[in-house]
Amino acid sequence: MDYIARQKKLVDRLRQAGLDALLVTYLPNVQYLCGFSGTAGVLLVLVGARSPKLFFYTDGRYTQQAAEQVQGAKVVIAKKSALVEACDRARKAEIEILGFEAGYLSYEIHGQVRTLLGNKVRLKPAGSVIEQLRAIKDSGEIDRIKSAALLASGLLQSALGAVRSGVAENLVAGELEMQARKAGAEKMSFDTIVAAGPRSALPHGRASSQAIPERGFIILDYGVILAGYCSDMTRTVHVGRASAEERRMYAAVLEAQLASIDAVRPGVEAGDVDKAGRERLKKAGFGAFFTHSTGHGVGIEVHESPRLAKDQKQKLEPGMVVTIEPGIYIPGKGGVRIEDMVLVTDSGHEVLTPAAKDLIEL
Ligand code: ZN
Ligand code: ZN
Repeated sequence: MDYIARQKKLVDRLRQAGLDALLVTYLPNVQYLCGFSGTAGVLLVLVGARSPKLFFYTDGRYTQQAAEQVQGAKVVIAKKSALVEACDRARKAEIEILGFEAGYLSYEIHGQVRTLLGNKVRLKPAGSVIEQLRAIKDSGEIDRIKSAALLASGLLQSALGAVRSGVAENLVAGELEMQARKAGAEKMSFDTIVAAGPRSALPHGRASSQAIPERGFIILDYGVILAGYCSDMTRTVHVGRASAEERRMYAAVLEAQLASIDAVRPGVEAGDVDKAGRERLKKAGFGAFFTHSTGHGVGIEVHESPRLAKDQKQKLEPGMVVTIEPGIYIPGKGGVRIEDMVLVTDSGHEVLTPAAKDLIEL
């Protein structure tokens, strides 16, 4: 992974924003910038007049891990605390403006940092500067995301093997997660969703102790983390024969999903990708039942920038990896969602989730 290139890009952005340094406390951002995947650490990026300097502070529990993982930053095992020593360094570097991640630094920690810096250093919110960089994946990241998507797709068959009426949703999720671990996944990228029968009308129906009914839709929405990168996919299958109305629901969601995927290309506004699918569902008479946005970026985190939602003006760029996941949810009856991961390429897009999408009746 090319951490140095990411650090250079960040430093350019900080310079443009008039920041002398950035205090990175949000761990997924720390991981993105220097490779550290542990649960305690602070990265200080000093822009410098000529060359930038990066310092990574953690504690004694992570001595070995930091030595193995961190790239492009000097590792300091803090004797006081990571935050105290990072602020000490910032103060001694005689910087004027220190940026911070306003979306992630708590009120309490902000107050501590303020006190630690003294009155010569000004704190300034840095906006979503790292999140913007993270939205465009480099080739190392794309390889990892592809592997995670491939691994997850390969689990679908064994999960479907566990789907039977009378079996608890939790058991299906458990089978899926066991197979994921066996196939090499670090863990799931979020709590597995298995929502059967009327529960399939819950857009986020986490697997429960409820038994799968004799007939109805069942939504499986899951992902794995592989080499630090997430995948996210959804398939909906039907237990027993689907009725004509249920077939119409499924066909409408699939058509909407394909229309949105088709709209993915560089330069298109995120809102237009959303619109392409939403229009299809409206035409089919299901517009009122598509109650969420079309998709989201995926990377180190399962939900990241960009958001593919109504009226979003952000333009898609090559290297973005997004989900396309329209759905229909009819309270009391059931729901359908189909979700793939899609890479924005120079000329259009590439679907990264290879699992088939024809309606399966079990
Ligand atoms: Zn999902
Ligand atoms: Zn998703």
